[in-house]
Amino acid sequence: MIPYGRQDISLDDIRAVEAVLRSDFLTQGPAVPAFEAAIAKRTGAAHAVAVNSATSALHIACMALDLGPGDLLWTVPNTFVASANVGLYCDADVDFVDIDPDTYLMCPDALEMKLRHAGRAGRLPKVIIPVHFAGQTADMTRIGALARTHGIRVIEDASHSIGASYKGAPVGACSASDITVFSFHPVKIITTAEGGCATTNNAELARRMVLARSHGVTRDGDQMVDGAGQGGWYYEQIALGYNYRMTDIQAALGLSQMARLDDFIARRHVLARRYDALLAQLDLVRPVQSPDGHSALHLYPVQLAARARVFAALRKAGIGVNVHYIPVHTHPFWRARGFDWGDFPVAEAFYHRAISLPLHTRLTEAEQDQVVAALRQALAG
Ligand SMILES: *Cc1c(COP(=O)(O)O)cnc(C)c1O
Repeated sequence: MIPYGRQDISLDDIRAVEAVLRSDFLTQGPAVPAFEAAIAKRTGAAHAVAVNSATSALHIACMALDLGPGDLLWTVPNTFVASANVGLYCDADVDFVDIDPDTYLMCPDALEMKLRHAGRAGRLPKVIIPVHFAGQTADMTRIGALARTHGIRVIEDASHSIGASYKGAPVGACSASDITVFSFHPVKIITTAEGGCATTNNAELARRMVLARSHGVTRDGDQMVDGAGQGGWYYEQIALGYNYRMTDIQAALGLSQMARLDDFIARRHVLARRYDALLAQLDLVRPVQSPDGHSALHLYPVQLAARARVFAALRKAGIGVNVHYIPVHTHPFWRARGFDWGDFPVAEAFYHRAISLPLHTRLTEAEQDQVVAALRQALAG
C-alpha cells in the first residue's frame, strides 16, 4: 500500500535519538529547549512551547487565553476533531464558520457575516481557530482584522503547515494571531512521533502555557506566592495544569528533522507540481495554490464525482488514499450537541467529493505514476 502520508527518518535522525538514550536525561533535559529555540528561530516568534501533541498545544493555548464556561470558540468544520474538542476541554461552547469553496479554508465573508449576527445577539466568540488546511494559510489578513475589530483572540491551527509562509512571513510568526500551533504527528511535515508546539510573541501567554503543560507548578521564585526562601527543594503549584510535556527523545528527533524542513517542503512542491501536470486532463478539481503564501503542502486533496466508488477502487489498487475531513459537526457526538447535516453546506459539499492523494517526501515518481494510472482507471470505470 502506498500511504497517503508517512514520516521520513534519516540516519542522522536516528543518531540524534540514540544520543539522548545514552545521555543522562530522557525528559526535561537540554533537547526540549534546543528544539523550542529552533522553532522560535525558524518562525520568528519570540516564544515556543513544546508539548506532547498539537491537541495539548491547542488546549494550553485556550487556557492561556482564559477560555472558560460561558465563552464561545469558533473553528471550521473542515478540520480534525481536535480543533473543536479543545473548546469543550475548557467548558466553553463551540460553533463553526464554513469554508471557502475554492481554498477549503475558513471563509472570511462567512466569518464577517456570522460576527455581525453574533454581535447583534451579544454572543461573540472569545477565540477563533482558523485551520491552515493542507498546508495553505487561511486569509489571516482579513481574519486577523475582523478579530481585532471585535476584541477576539486568534489561535492558528498550523498542524499542517510548519515551514509554510504567508505574505513573506513564516507561519508561526503570529503577525495576525495570538498563538500558532503545530503538530509533529508522523503524517505531518516533520515528526517527533507524537508532539506539538505553540508559538507566541506574548511573554505572559508563553508563561501561562509553560505552567499549563506541567501541572501548574513553578520553580521560578518570581512567580511564587510564598516565595523562594523556603529551600532548594521548594516548588509551588500556582495554577491547574496537566502533564503535557514533550520528552527529550522526541525533541532530539524534532530538532534533527527541523534541519531537513526546507528539503521536505521543496520535495512536496516538486511532487505537487507533478500531480498538477499529470492530472490536468482528468475529470477532477485540483487544489489551488494561493499567491499570498507558500504552502507546506501537507495534503493534495482533489474533488471528484462518484467519490465512494473511486476511493474503494484506489484502495483496492494498493493506493492509500484518505479523506480530509469528515465535517466535525456531522459526527454523532456533535449532532447530539445540536448540530446537523446541512449546517455548513460548503464543508459538506467538499467532503462528499474529496480524496487526498498520497503525498510525502519518500513518494517516488514511479509510485506517483501508479497513483495517477489507478485514478485514471477508476474515473473511467
Ligand atoms: C493532526 C491535527 C491535529 C492534532 O494533532 P496531534 O498532534 O495529533 O494532537 C489538530 N488539528 C489538525 C488540523 C490536525 O491535522
